[in-house]
Amino acid sequence: MTSLPRTGSRTGTRQAITVLSGGVGGARFLQGLLHLLRSDAAGDGPVPEVTVVANTADDIWLHGLKICPDLDTVMYTLGGGIDAERGWGRTGETWHAKEELAAYGVEPTWFGLGDRDLATHLVRTQMLEAGYPLSAVTAALCRRWQPGVRLLPMSDDRVETHIVVDDADEPSGRRAMHFQEYWIRLHAEVPARAVVPVGIEASGPGPGVLEAIRDADVVVLPPSNPVVSIGTILGVPGIRDAVRETAAPVVGLSPVVRGDHVRGMAAQLLTALEVEVSAAGVAGHYGARSRGGVLDGWLVDSADAADVDRVRAAGIACRAVPLMMTDLDATAAMARATLDLADEVAG
Ligand code: GDP
Ligand code: CA
Repeated sequence: MTSLPRTGSRTGTRQAITVLSGGVGGARFLQGLLHLLRSDAAGDGPVPEVTVVANTADDIWLHGLKICPDLDTVMYTLGGGIDAERGWGRTGETWHAKEELAAYGVEPTWFGLGDRDLATHLVRTQMLEAGYPLSAVTAALCRRWQPGVRLLPMSDDRVETHIVVDDADEPSGRRAMHFQEYWIRLHAEVPARAVVPVGIEASGPGPGVLEAIRDADVVVLPPSNPVVSIGTILGVPGIRDAVRETAAPVVGLSPVVRGDHVRGMAAQLLTALEVEVSAAGVAGHYGARSRGGVLDGWLVDSADAADVDRVRAAGIACRAVPLMMTDLDATAAMARATLDLADEVAG
């Protein structure tokens, strides 16, 4: 890659970075972060340890299998197994099992269950049924993929995001469905009226999650979905408090650019929460740590430079830099800007 300026004064002292991640947005950011850290460390000194606390509220049981889309997207992306074009699932994937299930008329037929991917779900489900917690299963799967990060599920407990939509056929006029059905079957094309993370109140943080946030030198909120990725991670009892209380600077990157998500369905879900769909709106939704929220610093895209003053007025340090993850160099530069902003707010 082209030479990026080296990180600031804390390069030598920064040992641990903790990132709260969803799937595609978080995984792409992590690729850039690892690329940056490795190129910085080349020759002189260790690469800081990166711990990823991944959203598991997208998880779904289908055909008797436990599927964890965000964990797998991070694991495959960093482990070199992702289909980069699609952004999810395996390279060289085939779909025979999905076609066979459809030929039997077995629902649901809308979920993209690839043949290679199926092996991951089979291993995971077998291990869960043998009594291992999801965190242990994830560690076992990562022994194959070697993602170069410590990948921790936000929780070992079952939490499932459901989306409430209008439905004239229901007496209440509304219907709740699993997030995956809203996203994959309905393409998030109908308005979301509410987002319900089922089971979250009774859940607890997975092993190592609170420690990873408490003991970090930097905590990063990558450009992941603020509602159904980072929102659910922060909703696990104990996690938001850990982020609020860590001695580390907490810095985030806007997943909204020019008033829209770059890909995904963040805009629909922010609208359901009555959050303004803008870089400043998402920052305000997270809030400043000094005012009861979770952020010390926030990066907005250069196109949203007009939002910087509003974010600062909310008590959050803010800079405008390019935030489009078009390639590894661009993404590494975003990671650089993140660590620089962390240094600034820590200093
Ligand atoms: P998911 O679980 O696969 O939806 O992935 P995440 O929650 O980690 O990230 C999804 C979010 O990433 C989307 O809602 C977008 O807002 C954001 N996103 C995707 N690509 C980009 C990009 O290139 N730049 C920025 N700033 N945000 C992005
Ligand atoms: Ca997700």
